[in-house]
Amino acid sequence: MDIKKVGVVGAGTMGNGIAHAFAFSKYEVVLIDVKEEYLERALATISKNMDRQIKKGIITEEDKQQALSRIKTGTDLNLIKDVDFCIEAVVENKEIKRETLKNIDTLTREDIILASNTSTISITEIGGWTRRASQVIGMHFMNPVPVMKLVEIIKGMATSDETYKTTDELAKSLGKTPVLVNDSPGFISNRVLMPMINEAIFAYMEGVAEPEAIDTVMKLGMNHPIGPLALADLIGLDTTLYIMEVLYRDLGDPKYRPCPLLRKMVSAGWLGRKSGKGFYEYNK
Ligand code: NAD
Repeated sequence: MDIKKVGVVGAGTMGNGIAHAFAFSKYEVVLIDVKEEYLERALATISKNMDRQIKKGIITEEDKQQALSRIKTGTDLNLIKDVDFCIEAVVENKEIKRETLKNIDTLTREDIILASNTSTISITEIGGWTRRASQVIGMHFMNPVPVMKLVEIIKGMATSDETYKTTDELAKSLGKTPVLVNDSPGFISNRVLMPMINEAIFAYMEGVAEPEAIDTVMKLGMNHPIGPLALADLIGLDTTLYIMEVLYRDLGDPKYRPCPLLRKMVSAGWLGRKSGKGFYEYNK
């Protein structure tokens, strides 16, 4: 399929990064959110992130202006009716996602692929919300999208090989490295990362070591760019807990039990960087 115009629904942290990546790779982008102010904020973020790329010598001012000129924004979902591919990046809330996907399914051409950037919802289930399950696929970008090379491509039970092939090629055309993953809770990224973070929290809770020591072991000993507890603060302890709960519930294995200290910290409103306090203190 010849893909020229891409719809991105949801212009938050991930949506603006996805729009950035597509526009930079010469796709026309239609970026949708529910409020104009969110779209303005998304465009400001894209512009700021492109300025960073200019400073690093990755792109020129002209590249930036051309990429920005390819992004159209709006609050009316009808704007996506003629796109050649659509990716959904709205909030991780099943009800909102279901309604959004159903609307996208109704409005867009029957032949196009619908991708979801969900971190925790089954792609098979999402496919079932639409009338085109064979053309529904997971396209799990990493944050920050313009910088991170990986895209997990998740095949649901009904996803066709053709849908996978097209999405894989599309990810490569963005300069990304796609990795095929079958539909399973947490896919690979969160299934491996989150239990490691959870275990680091258990180790801290049990008094095995202080947060700085745990993070230093993983940074210097395992060559991780950031320690697990600092990473949890960055991701948000609420998000970390939510993903552990999904793994625990959907895989039904006690090894995914969320650490009680993680629960306690979330209850206390200690959510990491965004609240100013997590395993470390931050200036708000
Ligand atoms: P976010 O809260 O930053 O942004 C979500 C955006 O969706 C908001 O701007 C919101 O206004 C918009 N939205 C809500 N309902 C909408 C609707 N009906 N139509 C259009 N827009 C709507 O969330 P995010 O962090 O960008 O996450 C988006 C998706 O990406 C989620 O599924 C999340 O699990 C996934 N994800 C997030 C990360 C991450 O690190 N943040 C990484 C990978 C995947």
